[in-house]
Amino acid sequence: MSPEAAVAEPASLPAEGRDCHGGREQLRAAAKAAGKGETLERYAKDYPAGPHDQPQSMCPAFGALRVGLRMRRTATVLSGSACCVYGLTFTSHFYGARRPVGYVPFNSETLVTGKLYEDIREAVNQLADPQAYDAVVVINLCVPTASGVPLQMLPKDINGVRVIGIDVPGFGVPTHAEAKDVLAAAMLRYARTEAEAGPVAAPRAGVSSQPTVTLLGEVFPADPVTVGALLEPLGLAAGPVVPTREWRELYAALDCEAVAALHPFYTASVREFQVAGRRVVGSAPVGYEGTAAWLEAIGAACNVSEPKVALAKQRFLPAIQGALARMPIKGRITLSGYEGSELLVGRLLIESGAELRYVGTACPRTPWSDPDREWLEARGVQVRFRASLEQDLAAVAEYSPDLAIGTTPVVQKAKEAAIPALYFTNLISARPLMGPAGAGSLATVINAALGNKARFAAMQDFFGGVGKKDTSGIWTDTPVPRPEFRERYQAQLAKVAKARRAEEMV
Ligand code: SF4
Repeated sequence: MSPEAAVAEPASLPAEGRDCHGGREQLRAAAKAAGKGETLERYAKDYPAGPHDQPQSMCPAFGALRVGLRMRRTATVLSGSACCVYGLTFTSHFYGARRPVGYVPFNSETLVTGKLYEDIREAVNQLADPQAYDAVVVINLCVPTASGVPLQMLPKDINGVRVIGIDVPGFGVPTHAEAKDVLAAAMLRYARTEAEAGPVAAPRAGVSSQPTVTLLGEVFPADPVTVGALLEPLGLAAGPVVPTREWRELYAALDCEAVAALHPFYTASVREFQVAGRRVVGSAPVGYEGTAAWLEAIGAACNVSEPKVALAKQRFLPAIQGALARMPIKGRITLSGYEGSELLVGRLLIESGAELRYVGTACPRTPWSDPDREWLEARGVQVRFRASLEQDLAAVAEYSPDLAIGTTPVVQKAKEAAIPALYFTNLISARPLMGPAGAGSLATVINAALGNKARFAAMQDFFGGVGKKDTSGIWTDTPVPRPEFRERYQAQLAKVAKARRAEEMV
C-alpha cells in the first residue's frame, strides 16, 4: 500500500473534533477507517476506560515523550498539531528534559496527500546517525493517528539505528501513565526480537553475578537501591528499571528471573515479559505488611527457599516497624493522583497511623494492583480506579479530611475550603516509598501540612468571601449595595418569563 493510499482523507475529521475536548468518537471512527483499528482495539483492551469515559489529566502523549526523552542516545520526534506539540514541548522542558523534542510539521495538504509520512521518513533518515543514536522514536499524536499516518511502514532499522513508530492518541490511550507503557512495551518488543536473533550488548555495568528482578515503573531514584538491599539475602539483585534509561538496559531487563510490577499499569510491558517467559509479581515492598508480602511473593516467583525469605524478613521488618512507629501520622486523609503509585502511598499512610478514607487513581484496575486494593479495602478505604476529578472532589466533600492529597485542581478546591492539601506529584511521589527508607519518609511533609489547619482557618476568617461574585475585582471606593436595583430587575425578569409562558400556552 502506498503511503498516499494509507493516509485517510482528513475531510472525515470535523474541525471541532480535532482536540482533546471533543469529537473523540469521530476521531476514533476516522482512525479506524484509516487503518488504525487494530491498534485502537489493542489499546481499548490494555487500557480499559470505564467506569467513566476518561480521567482529566494532561495530554497522554506526554508519558511516551518523557520516556523517549529520558533515554540516552535516543531521538524523540512528534508528529501532530503544532498546538499539541507546543504544549508537550513546554511540559517536557518544564520537567527538565535535557534533549530537544523533534517535530515534523504538517498542514492540510501534506496530511491529505500522504506527504507528511514522506516528511517523517525523511526526518528519520536524517536523524539516524549511529554515532549519535541507538534509536529514533516517532510518536503520532491525535490528528495523524486519526488520519492513519502509517508509522508502522517506517524502516525498522536505518544504519543500525532502531526506528520505533507508535500512535499515542488522546482518544485511544487514557492517561500519560499508560502512554509510558506504550513506548516501553514497543522498545521491549524490539529488544526481545534482537535478543532472540543473536548476541546483544551487555549492560554498561556488566552482567550481574546474581539472578535479577527487573523493576517495572518510574520510581524515586533511592527506591531501586533499597529494593536491591531487600533482595540481597534472597540471593537476588535489582535489575534495570523499566522504562530504561538506555537501549542496552532493555536486554538486561528481559534477562531477569522475575519482574516486580512496582507500578501496576504497564499492561503491554507485562505482556512482553510474559512472552519472554518471565514471572510478574504485583505490589511493592512498602511498609511492614507490604514488604513482608512482597518478599514472600518474590521468593515464590524466584524459587527462593523459605529460610532465606525468613532471613530477609528478620533483617528488614523490625527496622521498618521502628521507623513507622517513630514517625506516626494522625489525621483523616483523602488521596488522589495519576502516577499509579497511589495505592502504595495509601498503604504507607495507614501503616503510619493515618485514617485514610479514599484513594482515587486515574489508572485502571489491573491484576498487579489487586493485592494493594484488597489490603486497603479490608481496612475500610474506598478505592476508585479511573477516578474523575468530580469523584475526587466528592470524596473530599464527603469525608471532610484533615488533609487532602491530590492533583492540582483537588488541592486548589481543598485549600479554598480551608483544608490543608498537598500535591501528589511534586510532594508525595518525589519521596522514597520502599523498605526501611520509605517507612516514615512521608511523615515529615504530611505532619507539617496537617499542622497548618489553624492557619487555613485564620486565613479563611480574614479573606472569607473576598474575590467571589460581586466582591471580585479591584475597587477604588467601597461599593454601595443597591438592593432596590436588584429587586426591580428581578421583577422585570419575572414579568418577561410570565409573558413567555402565556405565549407558549396559546
Ligand atoms: S495530542 Fe494531546 S493535546 Fe493534542 S489533541 Fe490529542 S490529547 Fe489533546
